[in-house]
Amino acid sequence: NADLALYEAKDAGRNNFQFFTPALAREHAERLDRENSLRDALAHGEFVLFYQPQFDITSGTLIGTEALLRWQHGREGLIQPSVFIPILEESGLIVTVGEWVLRAACRQQAQWQAQGLAIPRVAVNVSGKQFLKPNFADLVAGILHDEGLPASSLELEITETVLASNNQMCIDVLRQLKTMGIAIAIDDFGTGYSSLSYLKRFPVDVIKLDRSFVGECDINGEDAAICSAIISLARSLRLDTLAEGVERAEQLAFLRTEGCDSYQGFIAAPPLPAADLAAFAQKPR
Ligand code: C2E
Ligand code: MG
Ligand code: MG
Ligand code: MG
Repeated sequence: NADLALYEAKDAGRNNFQFFTPALAREHAERLDRENSLRDALAHGEFVLFYQPQFDITSGTLIGTEALLRWQHGREGLIQPSVFIPILEESGLIVTVGEWVLRAACRQQAQWQAQGLAIPRVAVNVSGKQFLKPNFADLVAGILHDEGLPASSLELEITETVLASNNQMCIDVLRQLKTMGIAIAIDDFGTGYSSLSYLKRFPVDVIKLDRSFVGECDINGEDAAICSAIISLARSLRLDTLAEGVERAEQLAFLRTEGCDSYQGFIAAPPLPAADLAAFAQKPR
């Protein structure tokens, strides 16, 4: 049959063949199309970073921001990362785009510091593909040097899935980053691989409580229990905790009582364009 050709499924591993049907062919073409438009987006400068402020939960002091990627699309307007990050990940483009993110965030943070704004650091999301690429720590060191940013002003967020891959390379890279003075946060904690043993092996600084537990921690007993358990685990391991997705005063009160250290969320501010974040940082609170 001329319509059917053998096709090696991209992510299904070796010796796994599927029939290449017209539907699959169409899907394949669409994927290439989306990848190409993302490549163009990078080349044409259509990616922008928004910055969400993070606060000390007791004093309310601004402790830093998280850089979050957006795609300013010519026709479709601002596109959220949930739409395009999976395509960047799948295609491997996340490595190049992630490097752009890291550089842009460091440049912005250095500029804010030069302007004397009280924004102590910037947190940047790093994908597993990026992190496990050889010489990642050297790349980061080069960017800090180029942009004139002290390592102590940078935090890198990685997900626990990366740590759970449990390879020596991962430990080595984390040690190198720590030695440089960069802080490491575990993003989306509790949503991935659930072995906790990596916490004692890896030099991390911050655990980020995922929005899926924080969202109802003030009204749902199970979510409250999970938040409390993570906070007390972190405390006994001497790690900081940051709750994400705080929207209501009741959530904030609960987290404060439990001893969570810091938070970010719509209750204080959504991710903001750089200029708005600078204005926010200068406003007395
Ligand atoms: P994340 O790193 O867990 O980022 C937190 C997400 O929660 C952000 O979504 C933020 O806008 C959202 N958020 C913050 N506060 C609230 C709140 O109070 N309520 C609600 N409902 N949401 C809140 P965003 O910006 O859409 O990013 C989604 C995910 O995309 C991020 O999750 C991160 O995993 C990924 N991402 C974003 N930028 C980058 C990047 O530069 N590189 C990589 N590798 N991933 C990125
Ligand atoms: Mg994050
Ligand atoms: Mg997160
Ligand atoms: Mg999350």
